[in-house]
Amino acid sequence: MSVAPPTSITNHLLGCLPNNERSSVLEQCEAVELAFGSVLCESDCSFRYLYFPTTCFISLVTTLGGNHPLELGLIGNEGMLGATLALGVNTASCRAVVQGPGTALRMRATRLRRILCDNQMLKRILKHYLYVQLTQLAQNAACAHFHEIEPRLARWLLMTQDRAHADHFHLTHEFLADMLGVRRSGITLAAGALQSRKLIRYRRGNITVLDRRGLEMAACECYDALLKDHARLFPSHTPLPAREGSRLKRGQDETQAAD
Ligand SMILES: [Zn+2]
Repeated sequence: MSVAPPTSITNHLLGCLPNNERSSVLEQCEAVELAFGSVLCESDCSFRYLYFPTTCFISLVTTLGGNHPLELGLIGNEGMLGATLALGVNTASCRAVVQGPGTALRMRATRLRRILCDNQMLKRILKHYLYVQLTQLAQNAACAHFHEIEPRLARWLLMTQDRAHADHFHLTHEFLADMLGVRRSGITLAAGALQSRKLIRYRRGNITVLDRRGLEMAACECYDALLKDHARLFPSHTPLPAREGSRLKRGQDETQAAD
């Protein structure tokens, strides 16, 4: 459903635009409230709308041969759903489902296509974001192959916390198993281990992060790697917290943003 437009910009891709260009994009957007479980697009279907999350977050999932869905990526207010339009592609490669309810700015795909003809800055930003998404997909593939369930779960909880902008969220064991592509029993053991270390509290699907720093230390290296990739492309708009004491600090990297 439509809601009143926000008074401030909280999507970081739009925040990268100069004021006048951001205003022209916002004129074509409407603010919407998205409920948990809403399907925003299906695989191989054309985008009708594109979404710039502000407080919601979205999972990109795929299913193969009738198996349970597997998460490919997460989109929060650091990104958008439908950035492939910057490449001239208006077909979704996977299903997009709202995992964290909240608000987003929505625009018709036909309007974004017209805007991209004139707004080269937005096109450049979306291409950089596509690179970030590509690295997330590659990192997830390597993570699933090489890393144990417990550090993978810790990483996933950190990524969720970053996008939920909250220490508390609702996730069942079954959902977590689907997202990580593992058995539910594996999630039970890993969540129990994190809980016994007092990093999280887990009760009936309600997860509370008790010790953010400890959870960061428990996560696999993929969490840092993804932050680094994001900071390289968006050095002044890295919305995700850098790990304290790690190689990476917010907005500081050894390379400059690519042109
Ligand atoms: Zn990993």
